[in-house]
Amino acid sequence: MDDRYSRQILFNPIGESGQNKIRNKHVLVVGCGALGTSNAEFLVRAGIGRLTLVDRDYVEWSNLQRQQLFIEEDARVQMPKAIAAKRALNRINSETEIAAHVMDANAQSLPPLLENVDLIMDASDNFDIRMVINDVSQKFNIPWIYGSCVGSTGMSYTIIPGVTPCLNCLMQGIPLSGATCDTAGIIPPAVGMVTSLQTAEALKILVEDHGALRKGLHTFDLWNNQFYTMEVTKSKRDNCPACGKNPEYSYLKYENMTKAAVLCGRNTVQIRTGGKEADLHRLEKQLSHMKKLNSNPYLLSFEYEEYRLVFFSDGRTLIHGTADIEKAKSIYYRLVG
Ligand SMILES: [Zn+2]
Repeated sequence: MDDRYSRQILFNPIGESGQNKIRNKHVLVVGCGALGTSNAEFLVRAGIGRLTLVDRDYVEWSNLQRQQLFIEEDARVQMPKAIAAKRALNRINSETEIAAHVMDANAQSLPPLLENVDLIMDASDNFDIRMVINDVSQKFNIPWIYGSCVGSTGMSYTIIPGVTPCLNCLMQGIPLSGATCDTAGIIPPAVGMVTSLQTAEALKILVEDHGALRKGLHTFDLWNNQFYTMEVTKSKRDNCPACGKNPEYSYLKYENMTKAAVLCGRNTVQIRTGGKEADLHRLEKQLSHMKKLNSNPYLLSFEYEEYRLVFFSDGRTLIHGTADIEKAKSIYYRLVG
């Protein structure tokens, strides 16, 4: 057991004191899919003291190709991802204290989990929750590490409150949203690349070596052999609603929250994104291979698995074929991101 972290302690920038710091830190991982399971495994093997996991989904067969902590039995019994991940992680390192929450991460559910959290790892699948993470990071002064991947591409960016531009600053100039793994596919090495970038940054933050942090938004395409770090220091805005001089934390406000409700008497869930209109034209391009796709200036409808989805230009979406809100949300974010 004494030998457990010897190779990490031998690594000079970490050393004995860095290892002790890692042991005393608490990381919140938002999402237990491909990025979440990989990030969590790296951190647990590295000797993180406390880990909190949040995820709303259960394990499906299509997850096993890349979500590295899950096994066939998890898919067979539809085990919630947070629980299946905790079980696997406990077997890897019994010293890490792990809390698993089977729930939707959102502006209401996240803040209560932040007590004594030193770092938030983004392993979510959509920008609604990333903007919430961005706001809580600024409000509670907790660094977070953005990560995303689709196809053979991915990106990562480290946000330190009071130091770097936040994701809201970057979103003004860079189109980050778009295709998802369920519309454009994903190869496992893209996942591993993103989580390697994320965990390397996480270790630097945990051992308090901020000088070593990567500056800029790193993007890559493993199939086309492209690697690029975008300089972003000038993106920081004084009037940013999250990190500016007079922050409003707008994504934590009720009117901007994404709301979902079962439509009375129908096997349908309505999802309404806070104050955002839908770009039906962009969605139609993104979802062009869906079955029975139909569009007019007011709505876009198509079939996905056993569901029928209707996107309205005012930002509402109807998901016919389920009365389960969590299921509806996961289908929605799978397709829209
Ligand atoms: Zn900002």
